Amino acid sequence: MSQSATENQQSNSQNADISARPVVIIGSGLAGWSAIKEFRKLDTQTPVLMFTRESGDFYAKPALSNALAQKKDADQLITTPAQKMVSTTGVTLLQNTEVTSIDAATQEVVTSKGRFGYSQLVLANGASAIKLPISGNAANETISVNSLKDYSRFRGLLFEGARVLIMGAGLIGCEFANDLASSGYRVHVIDPNQGPLISLLPQSASEELRSALAGLGVMWHLGSSVHSISREEQAALNVTLSAGESLRVDVVLSAVGLKADCELAAKSGAQCERGILVNAYLQTSLPNVYALGDNTQYASESLGVGAARTLPYVMPIMNAAKALAQTLTGHPTPVSFPVMPIVIKTPALPLIIVAPAPGTPGEWRSVEAGIWNFWADDGEVKGFLLMGAQTAQRSNQIKLLSNAQ
Ligand SMILES: Cc1cc2nc3c(=O)[nH]c(=O)nc-3n(C[C@H](O)[C@H](O)[C@H](O)COP(=O)(O)OP(=O)(O)OC[C@H]3O[C@@H](n4cnc5c(N)ncnc54)[C@H](O)[C@@H]3O)c2cc1C
Repeated sequence: MSQSATENQQSNSQNADISARPVVIIGSGLAGWSAIKEFRKLDTQTPVLMFTRESGDFYAKPALSNALAQKKDADQLITTPAQKMVSTTGVTLLQNTEVTSIDAATQEVVTSKGRFGYSQLVLANGASAIKLPISGNAANETISVNSLKDYSRFRGLLFEGARVLIMGAGLIGCEFANDLASSGYRVHVIDPNQGPLISLLPQSASEELRSALAGLGVMWHLGSSVHSISREEQAALNVTLSAGESLRVDVVLSAVGLKADCELAAKSGAQCERGILVNAYLQTSLPNVYALGDNTQYASESLGVGAARTLPYVMPIMNAAKALAQTLTGHPTPVSFPVMPIVIKTPALPLIIVAPAPGTPGEWRSVEAGIWNFWADDGEVKGFLLMGAQTAQRSNQIKLLSNAQ
C-alpha cells in the first residue's frame, strides 16, 4: 500500500473516531444549558458531556439582583436541580470540574478530572467580576454577585439594618440598590459618573431613576470613587472616597461590571478581543469550537450594525442557542438577533431599554412622558426607552422598532 493511502486510511479512522466523540459543553450557566436544551430538540442521540466548576443546578441569574425583597435564599432560586437537568437532557455532567486547557489539534479538553475528546466543543464559560485596584487592609472584603454561591455569601453578610455600599451605578448596581433599600438596608451607591446608568439613558431619565431610588432611602455619591477600604479589628468598614469623604459601612458590594472569560480560549489559540471572537455561525477561530454567552464577542454581521460586541444578557443567549443547535446538528445557521429589550428591575422606576449600538451618533428625544426614542444621525430610530407605567408599551415599541430596521 502506498504511503498516502496509509495516511488517508489513518486520517479516515481518526475522523471516524472524532465524529463518534461527544459534543462537549464548558459551563452550566444559561448559555450552556440553553445550548443543550436546543440541541436536544433536534438530536436526542449524540452523547453530550458538560463540564462545570459549579454544581450545575439551573437558576435564572437575573433573579440574583431582586431576590432579597422576595426573601429568597440561594437554594430557593434553583429552578431545576442538576440531577433533573441531567435526566431530562440525557447529558453526562461533570460537576465541580475545571477545564484547564483545550488541545485543538487532538480535539480534547484537559480538565481537573483528565482529558476528554470532543467532536464539537461549545465554550459557555461566561464572565468574571472586574476587580478594581483599591487600597486598604479590607479591600479584598468587597463582594461581587455573579453566581448562586456569591449570592449566598452576600446574603450571609447582611444583618438587620446593615449599611451597604454599592460600587457602580450601572444596571446591576441600581437593581441591587432597589432590592436592598426596599428590604430595609441602608444603601450608599458610589459611581464616578454624574448619574445612574448614564451611559445608557438620556440624562433626565437618569435623574428620574436617581430620585426614585433616593425616595427609597438610597444615598448617592456621584462623581466619586472608592479610594481605600480598611477595618480595625471587628469594627465596621471604613471607606475613603476620592472626593475626600469617608463612610462607615458593613458590606461593600462591587457592581463595576463583568469581563468576558477569554483566558481559557486565548491560551488555546482562539482569537479574542473583548470576548471570544465568533463569526455569524458562532464559530471561534478554532475548528469545531463554538462560543455563546457572556464570554462571546459576536460578529458585527450577526448584529446588523456597528462593530462586533459582547451582549451579556439573556435574550442574546436564547437566540444564539437556537442557531447553534442547528449548526451543531449539521445545518449551519447564522445567528440573527431581533430587537432585544433589556428590562431593568428597579420597581421604584421600572425601565425597559433598547439601546443603540455603542458609539452610534444621534440623540434621545422624548416622544411623550415616559417614552423616548433614540434618533440616529442617519434619520433612523435605533432604540427606545420606556419608563414607569409606559413599560406596558413594550410590544408596541418592539414592533415599531422592528419595522423601522
Ligand atoms: C446580578 C445579575 C443580574 C442580571 N440581570 C439581568 C437581567 O435582568 N436581564 C438580562 O438579560 N440579563 C441579566 N444579567 C445577565 C445574565 O444573567 C447573563 O448574561 C447570563 O446569565 C450569562 O450566562 P452564561 O451562561 O453566559 O455565563 P455564566 O452564568 O457566568 O456561566 C458560566 C459557567 O461556566 C462555568 N465555567 C467557567 N469557567 C470554567 C472552566 N474553566 N471550567 C469549567 N466550568 C467553567 C461556570 O462555573 C458557570 O457555570 C444579570 C447578571 C447578573 C450577574
